[in-house]
Amino acid sequence: SARFGAADAAAWIRRAAELVAADADRLTRLDAEIGDGDHGLNLNRGFAAAVEALPDGAALHETPPGRILIAAGRAIVSKTGGASGPLYGTALRRAGKALGDASDASAEQLAGALAAALTGIRELGEADVGDKTMVDALTPAVAAFDAASGQGAGAAARAAATAAEEGAESTVPLVARKGRASYLGERAAGHLDPGAASTVLLFRALADVTAE
Ligand code: ADP
Ligand code: MG
Ligand code: MG
Repeated sequence: SARFGAADAAAWIRRAAELVAADADRLTRLDAEIGDGDHGLNLNRGFAAAVEALPDGAALHETPPGRILIAAGRAIVSKTGGASGPLYGTALRRAGKALGDASDASAEQLAGALAAALTGIRELGEADVGDKTMVDALTPAVAAFDAASGQGAGAAARAAATAAEEGAESTVPLVARKGRASYLGERAAGHLDPGAASTVLLFRALADVTAE
């Protein structure tokens, strides 16, 4: 359907968990270059816990999509170590809160929820665009989703995934100003930020489950 319902929210978390699991080694390798080499491990554990927290069967269809995202975010906060767990967990909780208890959401409402997720990450991590973090991928992705939301969630999510990829690429030459990579100074330049790379996966997952 054109609207984002409980089955779509659950499918997003499941697909994100699959893509994170498939790329966990790559994320960990990226983090080994400029951090402590645990990003793939952290996210894999977190998203596996989020999948475990999904309601199933009849309960799924009685649960508003916002509640599903809140439960997933809570599971990620409680099970994920490192900086990324609280950041992504907060993002999903804020997105879920923005969707409220409605049984489904329009593409425009989903755009609002993604903007709330970004605000949550910015409040918690205090990173700006250009600090070489997930914010560098998330900010253009949220803007692209919003700009394309009139064409439906599928088109908006595809535009967002492309913008996230470009945003992630833009972190390569940067020196980090937040997180562990900031301890490296100039030596962080020339490396892709692992959190920006994982943000790309979350938007690809959204594009996969909202495609017609
Ligand atoms: P840790 O660095 O604690 O081991 P992870 O390896 O799981 O945590 O995640 C690292 C990623 O988290 C970084 O690549 C970066 O994108 C993101 N990150 C770190 N600190 C911040 C912050 N203050 N704001 C936004 N994102 C951040
Ligand atoms: Mg790490
Ligand atoms: Mg760590």
